[in-house]
Amino acid sequence: MADTPAVTADSYCTNTAPVPGIVRTVNAKNTGPKFFHLHGRRYDACWCGKEVSLTERDNLRRHKPPQE
Ligand SMILES: [Zn+2]
Repeated sequence: MADTPAVTADSYCTNTAPVPGIVRTVNAKNTGPKFFHLHGRRYDACWCGKEVSLTERDNLRRHKPPQE
């Protein structure tokens, strides 16, 4: 993949900008109380292919790209 983001020295992905248009909000209302802590959490995907939860500022949380 030519557009794979760079990684830091400790192999974390350097990209914090979510891929536009595919934000996913977890709806835990129908999954019962066990997953209620996930409710409202937002996820997006990174260019590296990892699905990452978003911070309050709509940045991707620190993550490592998927290993191949
Ligand atoms: Zn990434």
